[in-house]
Amino acid sequence: MVDGSTQHSGSIGSVSRHGIPEEVDVVIVGSGGAGLMAALTAAKEGARVLVVESREIVGGATGISAGAAWIPNHGFSTEELKVDDDLDEARRYIYGEGRDQILDHDVIEKFLETGPHVARFIEGHTSFGWIPALWPDYRSDIDGASVGRALFPGPYSPEGLGEAARYVRPALTTGMARNPLPL
Ligand SMILES: Cc1cc2nc3c(=O)[nH]c(=O)nc-3n(C[C@H](O)[C@H](O)[C@H](O)COP(=O)(O)OP(=O)(O)OC[C@H]3O[C@@H](n4cnc5c(N)ncnc54)[C@H](O)[C@@H]3O)c2cc1C
Repeated sequence: MVDGSTQHSGSIGSVSRHGIPEEVDVVIVGSGGAGLMAALTAAKEGARVLVVESREIVGGATGISAGAAWIPNHGFSTEELKVDDDLDEARRYIYGEGRDQILDHDVIEKFLETGPHVARFIEGHTSFGWIPALWPDYRSDIDGASVGRALFPGPYSPEGLGEAARYVRPALTTGMARNPLPL
């Protein structure tokens, strides 16, 4: 799969050079959430990006997960659910959950700072939409726990991808897809 502008081409199944450009700026190995997020970011910065995926369809474990993103202070809940969040509370919750043992403080601070921007970036540059939910944090007994920090993926249609739509996993009909969350 290739993404730089809106170009999508490639091959599935056996390895083939069909549709693969001679030269790219960034090669991403794996098309899960981490890989596609890196690909999106690089492409939006103007890089020519090649995503290499070993499976027949994209998405990896991300594509069969519930897709919930835990992002404190993302703002969608404030706008849509009228629930406020507070970064200091979120920080206390993270350190309470991690018991301050193995956490990299710089990474935690960067996560708190950039998480809301990342959520907006994804919505702003894709046809993907978040659904905020009044979902409680897993450990409501920990200081700083709150509700509304989970963002769930909204309905998505790959039609706009044209030929590349065939690389997208069909909607699941089992598990949470069958018993959706009471959002
Ligand atoms: C049922 C389920 C529910 C979950 N629910 C949630 C949730 O709600 N919230 C949450 O935060 N997490 C959840 N998780 C965990 C979460 O899905 C994973 O931690 C996350 O998706 C990992 O993303 P990733 O991009 O690192 O890896 P993946 O999404 O697994 O992507 C890796 C990709 O790399 C490809 N690949 C591997 N090796 C190569 C290679 N050599 N060459 C080319 N391609 C390669 C794989 O085929 C795959 O497509 C859930 C997981 C499962 C299974």
